[in-house]
Amino acid sequence: MKYATISNIVKGEYGRSNGRFLDVFSPLNGEVISQVPLSSADVVDEAVAAAKQAFPSWADLPLKERAQIFYRYRHLLEKHFEELAALISEENGKTIGEARAEVSVSIEMAEFATSLPQLCVGEIEIVSRGVECRSERHPLGVVASITPFNFPNMVPNWTLPNAITLGNTMILKPSEQTPLSTNRIAELLAEAGLPEGVFNVVHGDRKAVEAICDHRDIQAISSVGSTRVAKIIYKRASANLKRVLSLGGAKNHLIVLPDANEDMTASDVAASMTGCAGQRCMAASAMVAVGKVDSIIDKLCEETKKIIPGKNLGAIISKQAKERIEGYITEAEEQGAKILVDGRGARVKGKENGYYVGPTVIDFVTPDMKIAQEEVFGPVLAILRTSTLDEAIEIENNSAYGNAASVFTQSGGLANYVAEHASAGMIGVNIGVPVPREPFSFGGWNESKFGTGDITGKSSIEFWTKLKKTTTKWNPEARTNWMS
Ligand code: NAD
Repeated sequence: MKYATISNIVKGEYGRSNGRFLDVFSPLNGEVISQVPLSSADVVDEAVAAAKQAFPSWADLPLKERAQIFYRYRHLLEKHFEELAALISEENGKTIGEARAEVSVSIEMAEFATSLPQLCVGEIEIVSRGVECRSERHPLGVVASITPFNFPNMVPNWTLPNAITLGNTMILKPSEQTPLSTNRIAELLAEAGLPEGVFNVVHGDRKAVEAICDHRDIQAISSVGSTRVAKIIYKRASANLKRVLSLGGAKNHLIVLPDANEDMTASDVAASMTGCAGQRCMAASAMVAVGKVDSIIDKLCEETKKIIPGKNLGAIISKQAKERIEGYITEAEEQGAKILVDGRGARVKGKENGYYVGPTVIDFVTPDMKIAQEEVFGPVLAILRTSTLDEAIEIENNSAYGNAASVFTQSGGLANYVAEHASAGMIGVNIGVPVPREPFSFGGWNESKFGTGDITGKSSIEFWTKLKKTTTKWNPEARTNWMS
């Protein structure tokens, strides 16, 4: 194994594990690169106890002082940029270019955390003669973050810089499929001067997550993953009276109108469906082609044929995921859809044991097919044909999900019409991956997110803090104000 067996990190120490281990594969070549412990509830207990002990002194520091850690952390992300990108690519399978882009977003997240002292100022007002009211934000205590495989560096950085800068202490449970990046993040946080116990890593699967959802000393949980798991976590943790924000899966629709710029649309749709091998919650998954857009579809197919597995297309996370994706393609074909570009059975020379699916474009998909409704999470685009824009919007609106929706057109009026009527939290106009940049927040609608607010940006301030309101009167004269 290239890497030693991974450890939990509790109170800065590389902690114990309890016997259950899972192999960690590199999707690039199918090799076992490490092993990850599947922790039980007692490891969660230890991590929570460490975070609880670290909380009072961490929360006591002024916000500006806590933010200093993230100036240093940001610098370390930059200093180790190439090494972090290589690790992401190795454990997740994405291309090195995509992994670099991921680290860049993590840097932006750390930058946002350093701006919290500017954004998180309290309020004060004289509410009656001699009486003032002030409000200020306080941390919640011990909080948890549960993350998926597809952005092993970025998604932890969606939550930890803001939650910790705002004064909380944290337990992070990364995906057991991509556990290495999180431990490297923990090392960099320690190097940046974060006190022991403020950030703890518990590795594991369902059992560790259940223990986190049930732990009485955890105040809030943020999770990112599939909708199936988002529902489980949201229900279980909120039944235990925790604050919960659970981001789920997606089925993103791109509506393409006949007046769209052909070249830009073809290349943007191809990039959206194939980036990170389609394993992005913002990836184009369904293209709703309105009217006569055949020349755009032809160009799109040409573009996708330039995207080659192992070269400019990364790997799929696991053998099982590859089989699942290919199963969706085969089922759509059997139901009468037409495969325009077929990525099944992709092999990469020298990496025959890697998990690859080539770009796949499927035309004449109908709304009743599974591939039109479910998240495929691979480099696969289902094209649904409609004759009117309203039919296209109806298809988008009928999706159970609601992460992103985009429209490609040269008409401002039609673009606004789609933006107004699409049932999704993040809308793109002539953009294939409409991720809002900081300080705007990230979060979908419908079954793509459970809970209030969004996970990043200004919205996260509300999630990771609670408000204290203090009303003060020093004026002893009676009847000069209405406060008793
Ligand atoms: P997943 O749901 O399988 O796992 C997410 C996390 O939950 C992992 O840490 C995992 O260990 C844990 N988990 C798995 N099964 C569990 C169970 N039964 N009970 C409790 N915890 C469990 O997701 P994944 O495959 O790692 O990631 C891909 C999914 O994440 C896709 O659906 C993708 O759309 C979604 N995602 C969403 C967003 C978003 O912003 N909405 C961002 C990234 C990924």
